[in-house]
Amino acid sequence: MPEKTSQSERRFSVNEIFGPTMQGEGALIGALTHFVRFNGCDYRCAWCDSPEAVLPELIKNHHTPMTAKEISDKLLTFSKACWVTLSGGNPGMHEHLRELIGRLRCNWKVACETQGTIYQDWFEELDHLVVSPKPPSANQGAPNYHTLAKIFTGALSKKTSVKIVVFDAVDLGWALEQGHILCGDVRPLYLQVGTDPTDSNEEILNSYRELVEQVHHHPAAIHLDVRVLPQTHKLLYGHGRGV
Ligand code: SF4
Repeated sequence: MPEKTSQSERRFSVNEIFGPTMQGEGALIGALTHFVRFNGCDYRCAWCDSPEAVLPELIKNHHTPMTAKEISDKLLTFSKACWVTLSGGNPGMHEHLRELIGRLRCNWKVACETQGTIYQDWFEELDHLVVSPKPPSANQGAPNYHTLAKIFTGALSKKTSVKIVVFDAVDLGWALEQGHILCGDVRPLYLQVGTDPTDSNEEILNSYRELVEQVHHHPAAIHLDVRVLPQTHKLLYGHGRGV
């Protein structure tokens, strides 16, 4: 009979741990945070900016098995920050993050970013959950509406924000027309300008300006309390790892 792994012995495939840095997107934009990036994702978005945490052939170069204690101990060696953000990949693929979140909350507030395909009970232990359903340009089909509905029910919805990356007019129309389903009653809806690794800051700001103007002319934007943001960390630091 296989030996059961205890909580404290359980190891997670960690891609990178870094910080403190500035949260560049969404509801926590500007917050000082550490990041823990987990490996593994159930999506293969056409424009994924973290393929090294998604594709098995790249994960093997960035795979460090760590226990909850080892992750927490590593973060304690960094300079201070208010938040730890669990990212990926899709951290929602990992069933057993409750112990880690408990440890981290002794020293930080804990946020998690997921595209919202898999529900985990430990979401309820977080200080903030960022759900980021992927638009048509990601080429991943319809979001998991069942999981989204579960997230938007009860107490969890009060500490959840929704962020959608927008690359083109089709993405924008989708986000605003489906907004009432994609966000439930959660407001505001954060729209984030999609960027390509080759984009200069001037190109990013031009795309941002265009998106702001398009949103201002869309009737659904008021009802959804839309906030349009650039990926500020890309403006400040580019597309490298560890920022
Ligand atoms: S959900 Fe996120 S991490 Fe996964 S493939 Fe899409 S962009 Fe990449």
